[in-house]
Amino acid sequence: MSHLKLHIPGPVEISNKTYKAFCTPMIGHRGQPFKDLYARIQPQLQALFQTERLVYLSTSSAWGVMEGAIRNLVNKKVLNCMCGAFSDKWFDVAKRCGKQAEALKVDWGSPVLPEMIDQKLSQGGFDALTLVHNETSTGILNPLNDIASLKSKYPDVMFIVDTVSSFSVVDIPFDQLGIDVLLTGSQKALAMPPGLGLFVVSQAALDRSITLADRGYYFDFQEFQKNAAKNMTPSTPSIAHVFALESKVHDIFEEGMQQRFERHARLSQMTRDWAHQHGFSLFPEPGYESQALTCINNGAKPGGRVIDVQKMQSYVKDQGILMDGGYGRIKGTTFRLSSMGDETVESMERLYKVLDTSLERL
Ligand SMILES: *Cc1c(COP(=O)(O)O)cnc(C)c1O
Repeated sequence: MSHLKLHIPGPVEISNKTYKAFCTPMIGHRGQPFKDLYARIQPQLQALFQTERLVYLSTSSAWGVMEGAIRNLVNKKVLNCMCGAFSDKWFDVAKRCGKQAEALKVDWGSPVLPEMIDQKLSQGGFDALTLVHNETSTGILNPLNDIASLKSKYPDVMFIVDTVSSFSVVDIPFDQLGIDVLLTGSQKALAMPPGLGLFVVSQAALDRSITLADRGYYFDFQEFQKNAAKNMTPSTPSIAHVFALESKVHDIFEEGMQQRFERHARLSQMTRDWAHQHGFSLFPEPGYESQALTCINNGAKPGGRVIDVQKMQSYVKDQGILMDGGYGRIKGTTFRLSSMGDETVESMERLYKVLDTSLERL
């Protein structure tokens, strides 16, 4: 079967090394070999999350943990910061969990700013807040550091942050930020197969979760803590993912975290430059562009070149690459190029070359 190289913003291309680790022969999840495996990677995961707390592994996609965070932490009312498809959906999820939820909406392509959150929280009544750090649908990177600094003003509000497409792309020091939940998934910035959620929870969040009687079982933070303390997971995990994760964290530290951040900054800058050189404008507001993927404006906003994205996708596909054609209500009026995971200057240049020839043919 011919494989299309993935340049969509998730799932992203997976290295042969990661696949090989994923295919390690199976072991039991209550036996010593699994505990040893989890114990071996725990310090590295803590270094990645920049935390002294235990890193939990959830066999689910990120949404499982996102819904879990709502069920474990929201007693009164949650403020959902909405700036794109993923962050908007969180509002819906909160309501479907039977929670009181209020929306803080900005236009797609704009960031959520700390003063907007401050203004909402100052009205009172909230005990949780959800934020998508890097809104993958619009290519916006929200100013997490400045938003997290509000935590000291609202200590009883649980700050829940989705970093699915920014984790290991930009620096996110969990303990230092003082936030309550930091979650990510396997198939985007970490370049692993889909199906694993990774997350960290503050002591305050753990304490809060005890007070919620209807937090359920599968995503019960108490169960994750109790089990992680013994190098286990509450239920049978996707053990293949844990093997792949061991290989991946090894790769990350071999490259160096700082070097990884710099690589992603460089690759996303290269993609923005490519877009500008070809007459396109960018969808995200200047200064808040994602470092993981580039969302190119194609008529969603005034200004810049407009092309037939579907045609481009099909030319690019003929050249062995799968590219995105926009997500949600900006499908077709934007398109996104991913530089997440293991991409390099060389692999991105190959992509630009294919895009160049396809533009000539359009
Ligand atoms: C992809 C994505 C999700 C959803 O992840 P699933 O693995 O499909 O649950 C959530 N948030 C962000 C920012 C994403 O990019």
